[in-house]
Amino acid sequence: MKPLKLLSYANDRWVEPAGALTDISSAINGEPVAQVGSAGGFAQMLHHARNVGGPALRAMTFHARAKILKTLAEAIMAKKEQLYELSYQTGATRSDGWIDIEGGAVTLFAYASKGRRELPNDTILIDGAVEQLSKRGTFVGQHVMTPLQGVAVHINAFNFPVWGMLEKLGPTLLAGVPAIVKPATASAYVAEAAFRILIETGALPKGALQLVVGPIGDLFDHLTGQDVVSFTGSADTAQKLQRHPVIARESVRFIAERDSLNAAVLGPDAGPDSPEFELFVKEVVREMTAKAGQKCTAIRRAFVPARLIDAAEAALKERLSKIVVGDPRDEKTQMGALVSTSQRDDVRSKIEALSREARVVFGDPQKTGDKGAFLPPVLLRCDDPAKATRVHETEPFGPVATLMPYRDVSEAVKLVNRGNGSLVMSLFTYDPAVTREVVTGSGAFHGRLLVVDRDCAKESTGHGSPLPMLIHGGPGRAGGGEEMGGLRGVYHYMQRTALQGSPRMISAVTNSWTPGAPEFTDGPHPFRLRFNELELGKTLITKPRTITLEDVEHFAHFTGDTFYAHMDEEAAAANPFFGGRVAHGYLLLAFAAGLFVDPAPGPVLANYGLDNLRFLKPVKPGDSIQVRLTAKSKSQRNAEYGEVRWQVVLTNQNSDTVATYELLTMNAV
Ligand code: NAP
Repeated sequence: MKPLKLLSYANDRWVEPAGALTDISSAINGEPVAQVGSAGGFAQMLHHARNVGGPALRAMTFHARAKILKTLAEAIMAKKEQLYELSYQTGATRSDGWIDIEGGAVTLFAYASKGRRELPNDTILIDGAVEQLSKRGTFVGQHVMTPLQGVAVHINAFNFPVWGMLEKLGPTLLAGVPAIVKPATASAYVAEAAFRILIETGALPKGALQLVVGPIGDLFDHLTGQDVVSFTGSADTAQKLQRHPVIARESVRFIAERDSLNAAVLGPDAGPDSPEFELFVKEVVREMTAKAGQKCTAIRRAFVPARLIDAAEAALKERLSKIVVGDPRDEKTQMGALVSTSQRDDVRSKIEALSREARVVFGDPQKTGDKGAFLPPVLLRCDDPAKATRVHETEPFGPVATLMPYRDVSEAVKLVNRGNGSLVMSLFTYDPAVTREVVTGSGAFHGRLLVVDRDCAKESTGHGSPLPMLIHGGPGRAGGGEEMGGLRGVYHYMQRTALQGSPRMISAVTNSWTPGAPEFTDGPHPFRLRFNELELGKTLITKPRTITLEDVEHFAHFTGDTFYAHMDEEAAAANPFFGGRVAHGYLLLAFAAGLFVDPAPGPVLANYGLDNLRFLKPVKPGDSIQVRLTAKSKSQRNAEYGEVRWQVVLTNQNSDTVATYELLTMNAV
């Protein structure tokens, strides 16, 4: 097969590499699969992204950007087979490819859905509640977020050419920031093919996405404080890039996802026949062999209670002996090749370094086959991990783990933390007290902590899988970065600004009515207005209703809620909050609805729920309540209807607020 000449994509055009070309070899047979050169013109690419892509994305609402993500994800799924075919050449089996390719699409789908459900159909994002800053309420504060006006430069590792690109693109594009993607060279042919699929959808505005295959040249020299670098790769490269003078001078945001010495711990409560023991063994082997151990999250250090070390070694060896290593296209193969022979040689040299403190108990690092970058899984055992250093510092980025004993949970915590910050640790225990001790002792050293037991194992997503709704990243050695985590990942590409001003101004800018902003009480009942006709600030003030003792008793017997505070004068009087019988909170809500609804069929289609409900003052028989209902914000869901959020305030005859909440309704457009 003729090697593919990989192109970059700059200024909305595919660009041939300039200068000498370098071959990328197949991980399976060493034959050249692709060729890369250098792109050049990086200042112009940044200029194009900032001046064409950025403005186009920022003009779209979060919902419009979410729609693009869905289109991109669908395209990857529709053309996934061509990606699987290329992915084999990186040494990945079908299931390795699944994590990368379909896992990448799933991540984009997740961001598309989060964008539509959790973000407004707007271009400004509100962060938190309005803060009252003055006595009379004419001066308030509101944090808002807007997209950075620069470029996201994504530098990706070789191990997940598709997922690694898409998990960064989802949050970036949703935030409204254009991206320049630089895939790792070793698997750039897969990344380039996936990128091509994204471009061919035609869904992206011009300038939103560019690709650099090969070195990034002087790109960093042109970065500014509006740009973000999101790097995934080794600690060495991260440090080199972070030291670039422009990064410090311009305060360029730098997200680093680096290597880490992730641990798995078998709890002290486990016996050799316990379900947790078996789950631990299974997971360690799965992590060693999936993607041939080339996962930043893979288990490198496996800790077991000292009394179980021989049993654990025997069980791991037995399971490892069944792993079939070979051509990733063969269905019987469970573990494919490493990405390249140089990667394999690097892993072998790391095993050699580890061998000074640990001994190889399974697998022969010298047995590599004549063609391709194959290496069998290798298990080491280190009996004195407290004295050892290399086992806590050296990352063999391949199918390698070290088994070690610990005496008690406090020692396990100390040993785990010697990784100096990891992406993930997993704990196999059925004892919540053990988990609490580990979380307290090791939480600060980990971005994710998975607790596996017999109850959740079947449905657990596993040690090695970052999920779009949970953060991925870790402190210290792991890079100190954070990605995904639902909307948290989007915020990395936005600026948070504390906006201060009058309620009228803040409400108008944020499209969210706030107390003190103008209210409109004229005209029809608000429930007579369609979604598009309803103006924020539209308010209904109801007439009052007096609550009688009969009302309270009727409600109590009707619902069965005969709690003493409503029914027993003496007992209620002794209660520190009530000083006598009070109306049910739910009775107040029901009466409030009775006061504000307009009953005839109309644009209000459904009551969708309540948020932030608070009962602030007791209401006693003889008191009266009155409702103030104000349209606070709107979010269109589809062509037919949208969600309206209403601020509801209940006051008594003395104008004291007795309850507040936000009511959600679905209204016809
Ligand atoms: P790497 O050698 O550090 O390369 C990472 C990326 O940086 C590649 O795109 C590489 O491009 C680029 N790069 C290298 N030198 C550069 C320079 N001077 N200027 C600009 N870019 C440069 O890492 P890798 O071998 O691809 O990946 C394996 C490592 O990544 C492992 O240590 C693993 O633990 C870590 N990793 C971490 C995570 C995480 O989420 N924390 C995920 C995956 C992998 P070229 O390929 O063109 O050199």
